[in-house]
Parts: sequence; C-alpha cells; structure tokens
Amino acid sequence: MSDSPSPGRRRFLQSSLLAPVGAALASTTHVEASALPDAGKADISTDVDVLVVGGGTAGTIAAIQAGRAGAKTLLLERGAQLGGMTTTGGVAFPGLFDAWGKQVIAGIGWELVKESVELDGGKLPNFAKVPQRHWMNQVHVNQFLYAILAEEKCAKAGVTICYYEFPTSVTPVDGGWQVECTGFGTRRQIRCKQIIDCTGGAEVVGMAGFERMREDETQPGSMLFHLGEANDPGRHQLHQLYVHGADSTNSRTVTQANLTGRKSVLEKLRKDKKRLMHLQPEAAFRESFRIVGETVITVNDYTGGRLFDDAVSNAFYPVDLHTKSGVKPKPLKPGTVPTIPLSALVPKGSRNLIVAGRSVSSDRLANSGLRVQASCMGMGQAAAAAAVLAVKGGTTPLKVPLDDIHRLLSDHGAILPGKA
Ligand SMILES: Cc1cc2nc3c(=O)[nH]c(=O)nc-3n(C[C@H](O)[C@H](O)[C@H](O)COP(=O)(O)OP(=O)(O)OC[C@H]3O[C@@H](n4cnc5c(N)ncnc54)[C@H](O)[C@@H]3O)c2cc1C
Repeated sequence: MSDSPSPGRRRFLQSSLLAPVGAALASTTHVEASALPDAGKADISTDVDVLVVGGGTAGTIAAIQAGRAGAKTLLLERGAQLGGMTTTGGVAFPGLFDAWGKQVIAGIGWELVKESVELDGGKLPNFAKVPQRHWMNQVHVNQFLYAILAEEKCAKAGVTICYYEFPTSVTPVDGGWQVECTGFGTRRQIRCKQIIDCTGGAEVVGMAGFERMREDETQPGSMLFHLGEANDPGRHQLHQLYVHGADSTNSRTVTQANLTGRKSVLEKLRKDKKRLMHLQPEAAFRESFRIVGETVITVNDYTGGRLFDDAVSNAFYPVDLHTKSGVKPKPLKPGTVPTIPLSALVPKGSRNLIVAGRSVSSDRLANSGLRVQASCMGMGQAAAAAAVLAVKGGTTPLKVPLDDIHRLLSDHGAILPGKA
C-alpha cells in the first residue's frame, strides 16, 4: 500500500492547507524529526554511567545534574513528556523553595522553574517576605513550557531521553547493573554503573528486591481540570477532585484512577452546565511505596528540623496529610528547616542504587511534607551528585565522601543544609 494520498484526497489536503475555511488550522509550520539509524530495530543495547528511571519532578533534575557533572546519562520515562506530577499530573505550582524569609532550595530545579516563569512573562514570589500562608510562595509555572525547557536542558547536558520505556528486570552485575527495558517496538538492554530510581514509587528498588513500605490506606490522588467559558490552558488555576483509592502501582490501578477521575469530571460538567476547558491526561498521585533506607526520616526529625550529619538538601512544607475528610496542614514552628540525609535516599543494604523524590525513606507523616516539589528537586540533584561521584570513584553512593558531594552540589548552584 502506498503512503501517498490518492488524487482526490491530495486535492482535499491542498485545499484545506492553502485555503483554510471556518475553523480550519490557521497555519502549518514544518519541522523534521531526525532520522534514527536504528529505527527499524527492536533490540537495542546501551552502555551508560548513570541510568535515571522516571523523568518526573525529581528525575528530570537528577538527569540534568548527572549529565552536567560529566556522566553518560540515560533517562527512561514511561510517559510522553518530562515533569511527572508537575506536568502530566498538572501540579504546576512547585513549592517550597523558601522558608522564613530566605531561599533554602535552589540549584537546577530552581533554575528550571525560574526560567519557565520568566519566559512565560510570569512573576516570581518575593522570598524575602514571609507569606501569611505557606502556599502563597508556591511558584506557578506553565506546565507545557516547563516540559519543553526540561527537554532542552537535558539535551544541553548530553542526557539521552527514552520515552515510553520502562524496566522489566534489574540484575546486579560486576560494576553495576544490567537492566532489561520495554517500550512499544523497543526492547532495550542497558548496562549502567549506577541507577537513580525516581519513579515516585521506588519501582526499581522493589524490582531489585529491596524493602519498601506502604500503608494500606494512602492519600487520595487528584484529577485536575478546568471548567469555564474561555479557553486559556496553563494560565488558570486548575480545579481538582479527589480520587480516593487512586493507586499508582501498575497500569491496571492507574487506568482505574484515570477512569474514575474522568467520569467524575464529566458528571460535574453536566451538573454545572459549563464547558470543559482543560483536563490533565493522567490522575495525579500523592503517595505510593517508599523505600526502607539506611535512615528513615521520622515526623519528629522533620518537624524538629533535625540537621542530619549526612544532610544533602533542605526541605520545607507543613505536614500535609490528605484524607477523606480533607486536609489540615500542620505548619512547622518558626525557624524550622528540615533536612534530608543521603542515607535516606539509599535503600537499606543496596549498592549502586539511590532514589530521589517522594519515595524517600520516611514515615508517612514526614513524607507528607517531604514529598513536595522543591524538596523532590533538591533530592534529585543530591542523588545525582552522589551517583556521579560514585561512578568516578568506582564506589557506591553511600561511600562517597560527603565533602565531595557538597562541593559538587555547591558548584551547581544548590544550597547546602545549615548554610542557607
Ligand atoms: C494533587 C496534588 C497536589 C499537590 N500539591 C503540591 C503543591 O501544592 N506543591 C508541591 O510542591 N507539591 C505538591 N504535590 C506533590 C508533588 O507534586 C509530588 O509529590 C512530586 O512532584 C513527586 O515527584 P517525584 O519526582 O517523586 O514523582 P513524579 O513527579 O510522579 O515522577 C515520577 C515519574 O516516573 C515515571 N515513572 C513511574 N514509573 C516508571 C517506570 N517504571 N519506568 C519509567 N518511568 C516511570 C512517571 O511517569 C513520572 O514521570 C501535590 C501532589 C498532588 C498529587
């Protein structure tokens, strides 16, 4: 069968492109995707220093940091774009980069957020002013722009992005890991020295056989949408409805959450008699598996602002547990800035494996504060610094001298705990 349109269809295409009628597209711009030499192959082998699994809030930052620090880096993302909850979930209001009148988290995450706001003509909060309510200093970003800028930064850092792919097995081998991956039309075998698991549910950690924790009851997910009269996606504050029982464990449970969320939006739309202006493509998930790390951050560590000996990043947010009766955030006491230790990013007993993001080793209440985006970004950068230095030193993240991690993080704009 030929790919060329039939003469009749060609005439229709020409007339629809050249002489738009009514609601036809106003203009067409042509771009060419570069041809891939291995496009026809199903089986691919890849050798890298650092494999980041999950290109979400934490993973994007981890990959950029690893690439900028000179590691050959591959980023696997099962979805179609970078950003995770920040973009696909629609939680495009990262918090919190500041505490008590000063910035406590910066680095690559902040760079990306700041550039997204500036390019979009938006306004950044004044961090020198302590807000009346914590959420007032969240930074609203245009999710679409954020996702594209993230890709640009990955490309500049030399990071290879593989969308629609996920690992199916991880096996420890001499000097690292062998990871089998699947995507549609692709089977990839990756050899890497370090893995950074940024899947939000510690999926690689589970696959590698290390311990994870999760309570029977988890916080609801949310479906984010906008009902209204005029379409201006990306600018409006999105509405959200809780999807209780939303579970990000696998394709079946995510499918169920998406179906439930969309059905409820449709019911609301019919009831309110409004137009559907915007709907995120996937439910946003708050809570899933967390690792059991070398250190487990407790709620007392968190609310007490414990400065861990091996702290690599700051965090800041109220304890924020969403339940069936809603959420009542518990603000931190004035002056409190919790920290994240390297040992809470390392699965207990593991080698050459580190996590970043909301699956950080922490009890449930501590996690409800730690899971926010600026903290996840800070963790992503710190985990990547440890992983890259482990590659360079032929060791494992936990054994990298802390001073070296701190130096690398400072060189890349991060704020070190206790030094804000
Ligand atoms: C409704 C809602 C409201 C929130 N409100 C706020 C707020 O006001 N302020 C704030 O800062 N934070 C807020 N948060 C929290 C915050 O958005 C998330 O906790 C945080 O973004 C999680 O980041 P992450 O990198 O750990 O995970 P994610 O951003 O979820 O990234 C995980 C990525 O991994 C990919 N992935 C998963 N499994 C695989 C696999 N096996 N292979 C390949 N890729 C995989 C996913 O597709 C995704 O891209 C909210 C969260 C929700 C759900």
